[in-house]
Amino acid sequence: MAVKYDIAIVGGGPGGYVAAIRATQLGAKVAVIEKERLGGTCLNVGCIPTKTIIKSVRVLEEMRRADRFGIEVDHPETIRPNLEKIMARKDAVVNQLVAGVEGLFKAYKIDLYKGRGRLLSPNRVSVETTSGSISPELTELEASNIILATGSAISRLPIPGIDLDGVIDSNTILSLKELPQSLIIIGGGIIGVEWAGIMAPLGTKVTILEALPNILLPVDDEIRQRFQVSLKKLGVVVNTGAKVEAIEPTISRRTEATRGLDPHSQSEKLTVHFSTAKGPQTATAQMVMVAVGRSPYTEGLGLAEIGVNFNRRAVISNERMETNVEHLYAIGDVTQRIMLAHVASAEGEVAVENIMGHSRVMDYRAIPNCIYTNPELASVGPTEQELKATGVRYKVSKFPFSALGRAVTIDETSGIVKLLLSEDKGEILAAHIMGPDATDLIAELVLAVKEQITAEELSQIVHAHPTLSEAIQEAALGGVKGASPIHFKR
Ligand code: FAD
Ligand code: AMP
Repeated sequence: MAVKYDIAIVGGGPGGYVAAIRATQLGAKVAVIEKERLGGTCLNVGCIPTKTIIKSVRVLEEMRRADRFGIEVDHPETIRPNLEKIMARKDAVVNQLVAGVEGLFKAYKIDLYKGRGRLLSPNRVSVETTSGSISPELTELEASNIILATGSAISRLPIPGIDLDGVIDSNTILSLKELPQSLIIIGGGIIGVEWAGIMAPLGTKVTILEALPNILLPVDDEIRQRFQVSLKKLGVVVNTGAKVEAIEPTISRRTEATRGLDPHSQSEKLTVHFSTAKGPQTATAQMVMVAVGRSPYTEGLGLAEIGVNFNRRAVISNERMETNVEHLYAIGDVTQRIMLAHVASAEGEVAVENIMGHSRVMDYRAIPNCIYTNPELASVGPTEQELKATGVRYKVSKFPFSALGRAVTIDETSGIVKLLLSEDKGEILAAHIMGPDATDLIAELVLAVKEQITAEELSQIVHAHPTLSEAIQEAALGGVKGASPIHFKR
């Protein structure tokens, strides 16, 4: 007989596990079905491992410039990354956090079913468990409500050579054993650019090939242009308008190598063919990373059989997270709305609160978007180019970190806070930051955008000195009629 639950959640990523905890807090009996490890993409192969590795890279960068802070290192050339140890720390952090979620599941008495979930009807799910050589076991759960939180998977690039040795992706790069001398990253989205910012300081020569006219397309144009200067300083080569069409082994070099003629051959064993406005071109590298996006994961879920509306694999849900099938909800990456962990979690909370009778809708106006490069990028609300396109009347106020005391004390002065304000009332419509701790600083501006705070109101909030947050207060002052920043004059 099937076990009965108030809510069954398929997928235990930041969407599913947060929904499960919140639902239990609200008094529901909850089951989560997860085919791999709790924590999903975010904890296991996404946000957490990458940001852990990025911390190692920041330590390396800080040590390399120790002399700027009056710290002497006898042999600076001995400061070097140890990839094995960096990866071991990353694994330890991931394991600690996954264990933390497992512990919370026990504490909240959430039933975890390890296996692949499949919808049998709008209130029945089967769980297929395969362990070792034992044939699959099927368990059936009955639930008054079901939440689909199956996330996303790496999009495959359907080109010749994609399966060659040395072609990696955002999952397999996490188990690199040695740093390649050179790496071509196909795709200049957030994942591709974050990895460029990891690999270049570690000593790898990085080339990004991006099909579109710009990398990081959702970023404000002005911020992107400033950021590209930093990427260039790192030695990252960016080719835009470069559509990759094939990868193949670098045959001529390999032949020379076997003859012992080319000592560099091992470092450039892959040739990437791409087309640009100038015609067909090639680039060579030791490894190629494919970072061309992620697709909703709905494989084997049985959506069509029970009549769930979906669109190119993305499950369609409304702002209450309801699908077209009653009592069936969809949250997170599988909806393809905004593929970010905090959005998945927020949607999870909205779904369970609606299930439990607390009516809520998701508010997508104030979602922070963070890119963990050096310097960091963070934003909330539309870009300036988007505002222009929609004809909204706006004004801009900016403040540079180079004029901020705290930024000078930490020697991180590159970047700006840029606010986009409504022309009439000075309401904060959007904010774009490039600079130190941008990904934390953005929180204040998310509140400002969500609560429709004006630049004047924000400028009157007392900010601690010396802190990086004063850059926000200064930028807000610049947007107030008759005022301007205190520490900067054009
Ligand atoms: P997922 O985290 O993908 O979880 C879905 C879970 O469902 C998985 O564990 C999967 O195994 C399971 N599942 C799927 N189908 C079934 C089934 N039939 N039965 C049982 N289980 C199933 N976002 C940020 O906000 N900040 C970042 O810094 C960030 N960095 C990232 C870096 C990288 C390299 C990547 C790849 C992603 C990053 N993301 C980041 C995106 C973030 O990881 C996702 O947006 C987030 O994990 C989505 O959460 P989710 O719960 O919807 O899905
Ligand atoms: P994102 O969707 O943010 O992860 O970014 C993926 C990026 O990869 C996008 O900017 C795409 O334009 C880019 N991309 C997709 N296919 C190709 C290709 N064949 N060659 C180069 N870039 C690509």
